[in-house]
Amino acid sequence: MSILTYVLFSDIYCICVACTYIQYILGGIIMSCHDIGRGMNEVVRMTISLLDKGEIEMEPAKKIIATCRAAVNWCDGNEEEASLYISNCRCGKCMKIIPKGEKLLSLYSFDDIIGLQYRDYRTEHIVSDKVCEQCFDELVTKYSDDVTSAKEATDKRLEGMNSKEYISEGAYQNDNNGCRWVRGTDWFD
Ligand SMILES: [Zn+2]
Repeated sequence: MSILTYVLFSDIYCICVACTYIQYILGGIIMSCHDIGRGMNEVVRMTISLLDKGEIEMEPAKKIIATCRAAVNWCDGNEEEASLYISNCRCGKCMKIIPKGEKLLSLYSFDDIIGLQYRDYRTEHIVSDKVCEQCFDELVTKYSDDVTSAKEATDKRLEGMNSKEYISEGAYQNDNNGCRWVRGTDWFD
């Protein structure tokens, strides 16, 4: 196991000067890989297709999607890219499909307000960066030190954002992070 693999797979995120420097150097040498995210996103798309057809249940579907996200760490991938297929229309926590025009909030954009760390995604069984308003409020209540201030700060930040950044499109992503979906999987249907 390489040092990089160890760093990526371990739950230890040391921020001492030496480790931060090593991670900075590694980050400079190894460019982020988007293809592994696209590959895992293909699996997520099939998983959602099976879920929507009632061929698998919600919990196994979430476990597969969570594994796809974790699997990008076999390369220098980005977890969010592995579940992009659902991030335009489904809540990453309760998995409800959010109708077009309703709020779907990016946890990444508000993590400093909520106090939710990326590693908490696993504890909370979150499989996409975007969550519905109800789940967002539940996470604010659970993680923030001052709920009222956190909600005010959220509203203030939303005012300065483009609505495309927090509104559901009501439909799955029609491309794989800028690329066409692979052909040849239609025999599964
Ligand atoms: Zn939700």
